[in-house]
Amino acid sequence: MTRFRTRSPATGKRRLHRRRWRQPDSKKPSREELLQAAADEAQLSGKSLTAIRKHVLNVLLDAQRPMTAYEVLASLDGVGSVSPPTAYRALDFLVSLGFVSRVESLNAYLALDLGPSDVPLAFFVCEKCGQAQEISANDAIISLMSAADQQGFGVSHASLEVRGDCRGKLGCDHWDGKTGPAAASAAIDEHSHK
Ligand SMILES: [Zn+2]
Repeated sequence: MTRFRTRSPATGKRRLHRRRWRQPDSKKPSREELLQAAADEAQLSGKSLTAIRKHVLNVLLDAQRPMTAYEVLASLDGVGSVSPPTAYRALDFLVSLGFVSRVESLNAYLALDLGPSDVPLAFFVCEKCGQAQEISANDAIISLMSAADQQGFGVSHASLEVRGDCRGKLGCDHWDGKTGPAAASAAIDEHSHK
């Protein structure tokens, strides 16, 4: 599925990163390296990786799958009193830093375990298990931006998601049926964020 939607520049605009985080060989950084990088990047933006933001990032990195804001909020039980707006703001902040991506068709968030990407990303989204995999979408996005430019369409946000069956490659082999699109839909109904 290809989707384009406009959204508020305040929350949706993916900014350019001042540093390249990813190694040419896509070496996976350690958890500590990722958290430190997020703290550094937050500081460069004049902000800080507060305890709640760090906790949300850890929750998403632990999950290794897209989580709805509702699921993230539920996982924050016991970490003081966290209101839904606080959780949403933490998620938006991590998205703005590039350490977390929104998987729009699942209305969910996925931590990028390689860290922020220097190129636009697309996602393969499994409709059965709800797992998502990032892929570089540089050429596709450039092509679409060029088409928009030619037609005088002012783009504020673009996302590219390809839905289908992971055929056991992502999460279907060990899918317990409790997470995935059905669970995500229930969470959307309960908690319409955007
Ligand atoms: Zn699957």
